[in-house]
Order: sequence, then C-alpha cells, then structure tokens
Amino acid sequence: MKRTPSQQNISRRSLLQFGAGLIGTSSLTAWLGTGALAQTFEYRASHKNQDQLIAAVPDGAHAVSGLTHDEALAKLMEGNQRFVARRRLNPHQDFARITEVAAGQAPFAAILSCADSRVVPEIAFDQGIGDLFVVRVAGNIAITEDIASEEYAVSVLKAPLLMVLGHERCGAVDAALKGGEFPGVIESLVFAIRPAVQASEGESGDRLTNAVKANVRLQVQRLQTSSVIASAVQEGKLKIVGAYYDLDTGEISLVS
Ligand SMILES: [Zn+2]
Repeated sequence: MKRTPSQQNISRRSLLQFGAGLIGTSSLTAWLGTGALAQTFEYRASHKNQDQLIAAVPDGAHAVSGLTHDEALAKLMEGNQRFVARRRLNPHQDFARITEVAAGQAPFAAILSCADSRVVPEIAFDQGIGDLFVVRVAGNIAITEDIASEEYAVSVLKAPLLMVLGHERCGAVDAALKGGEFPGVIESLVFAIRPAVQASEGESGDRLTNAVKANVRLQVQRLQTSSVIASAVQEGKLKIVGAYYDLDTGEISLVS
C-alpha cells in the first residue's frame, strides 16, 4: 500500500510507542530484528545471571520453542483435528501455565488471522496461553504494523512457523469483491485486498472463496517483503504457510 509521508510518520510513531512499551526504548533496535541483541533481551527476561544467559542463548533456528517448522505445523493441525472432532484438550489454560510463561514467552507459531469473531486461532487450533503469537486484523492483511509484529515473533521470539489464516465468507474480502463506498477508513482494508480479487478473476468455482484464498497467498507474499522475515526463510529458520478456515465445520486446510 502506498502511504503518504504523514501516514508513514504516524506508523513509525505507533511502532516506536509499541516498541518502547514492550521492551524499553534502548532495546528498540534489538526488537526490530538485529539478532544477537534481540536474543539477549529475550533471555535476560528469564535468566537472571550471566552464566545462565550465555548457556541459554540458542545456537539453532528452533531453540526457543524447541520445535521445527514441520513439528509446529503438525501440532497446529492436530489441534484443529481435535477441535473439529469436538475432542479439545484445552491445554495450557490453567494458572500454572500463567506463572510458567510470566517470565518469558516462546510461542511455537505466529499467525496473521482475520479479526472475524468466529475465527479464534487459540480455540480452532486447541492451544493455550503462550503457545501462539496471533496478530488479528480484518482481512488478515499484512500492512506495516502487522508485518512489524510478525517480525518480532520471528526475530526475537524465534517462532519457527508463520501462518496467514483466511476464512470462508470473509466480510473484508467480500467488501473488496463488491466494491462501492465505505464509511470511515475501511477503504484502507479494501485497498490491501483488491489485488487478490483481481488475481482470482476468471477462476472456476465460488468467486468469494477464490478471492479469500488469493488474499491468503497475497499476504504471504507481502510478509516476505520484510527483510527480517525473508532472511529467516532463506536461512531455514522460518516456514511460512497459508491456511483457510471453514466456518461451517471449523476445519483448517492449507492454501497452496
Ligand atoms: Zn474475515
């Protein structure tokens, strides 16, 4: 999306405020993804003395969550199968888990999901507190602040998997499909989705479903315009996948 200079300033200021609130201004550079410093912050949160800090710094891609890309994806999909079969385990939702992760988080997957009230990643994947780093925005669009949030999940928290999760009958995609006048600043959402509508024109099957899936693919591509995320993929530290949530069944399938 093209932004005016003033919009860029606002975005930058929002990011600074978010970063400062999150980890302190002096660590903002680290938060933005320069590896070693970022890791230092993360480990400082849970390891008080220097020996522990050195011993705990990860030397591999998946050291924080302890899962590989494929293990993380399998864990998500197994959780969704439990959800669909009405056999949820509701893991990591007791007070012991709250205290366990209070000192530091190590989510095994980062998700960019729609804000739709019917699509709730922690429930649909049968996960709990500290398991998923979820960014939710209507139309699951990857614009600046969403990308920045996922950069944090990838570069600091070392999530090995990043998923864009679209869903059946998405209102934001439907708005982009139908066009027209929108109140407030909704046009900014539609603007970010419109290329997916155009890309899926002429495909056989349901027009909205095709556009939703094209939008998932588009936002996967946009996430990779981030040098932080693209580098993590190239170095084998991160896998990015697209997925589609069926509102009628709750089943989640991968979008290729
Ligand atoms: Zn939606």
